[in-house]
Amino acid sequence: MKNIHYTLKWNNIEVEQSPRKFISQTSKVKGFEEFFNLARNVKYRRTNVDWKSTFEVLSGDELSNVTTFKSSRRKAEKIKFLMEELPTIEQMKKSLPDIYDNWLCPVCSNVIEDFNHIWSCVCHVNILQKIVRDSQ
Ligand SMILES: [Zn+2]
Repeated sequence: MKNIHYTLKWNNIEVEQSPRKFISQTSKVKGFEEFFNLARNVKYRRTNVDWKSTFEVLSGDELSNVTTFKSSRRKAEKIKFLMEELPTIEQMKKSLPDIYDNWLCPVCSNVIEDFNHIWSCVCHVNILQKIVRDSQ
């Protein structure tokens, strides 16, 4: 079999690295660009986020070439936490407003339950203090 001599170009620019590595990097950049430009990420476009470290933390110890239901669920939970989209009552109102209309925090029943209330609810103080103590 004869060797095929070629020059790989992208946007009329010669690609100097191996085609495999170039396609891999191009795919990663395209995926990041789509993620970065999601409407839900507008607040992160205004801040100086270390995206490389962020994605490393989101991926955790999982191998990059293996996907399991457990790892996907764990990563989705981390992203929801990062995006402040935990399943609070206020979050549920966005998809099921007829059911959750006028619902308040199911624990204290005093105020609306949004992401910030999870951490400030008077009924959660002892639980949060225990988490802090156990972490230390
Ligand atoms: Zn509450």
